[in-house]
Amino acid sequence: MVIGLGRFGCHLSGALAALNHEVLAIDRSPDQVQRWSAQLDRVVQADATEEGALRQLGVADFARAVVAIGASVEASVLTVLALAELGVPQIWARATSEKHAKILGSVGAHHVIFPEAETGVRVAHLIVSRMLDFI
Ligand code: ATP
Repeated sequence: MVIGLGRFGCHLSGALAALNHEVLAIDRSPDQVQRWSAQLDRVVQADATEEGALRQLGVADFARAVVAIGASVEASVLTVLALAELGVPQIWARATSEKHAKILGSVGAHHVIFPEAETGVRVAHLIVSRMLDFI
């Protein structure tokens, strides 16, 4: 399950689907849901901070969830909390700062991702390895 279809979440969902994994994508924005419903198998509109809404969607049956909400710390923290309360076994969550990451861990995230920082580091390694290829 992927929650939040912003730039990060939509690429993540698309890549998982391309790898033949069934993905439930959730976003609170009807526009985002409409935009991605042609490309992803299951896209539903819901506010993921609402534990009741997540329960109705059967999220407790999913083995893994990625909370891809970035800008709103409150929404990402409340979503992780709701997933943890529902007993989702593996919760990955995106953080925008170290403090955000700490809070996510304390409310139940099992793994925290920093997409921008991790991509920056990966690209730096790629550039340096390509430079070495030409020496
Ligand atoms: P990105 O960098 O991935 O584009 P962003 O930081 O610009 O993300 P966010 O505000 O993190 O944007 O929103 C990412 C997506 O998460 C949006 O499509 C937004 O509608 C969705 N989203 C935000 N809050 C919730 C929520 N409570 N429930 C479900 N979806 C949400």
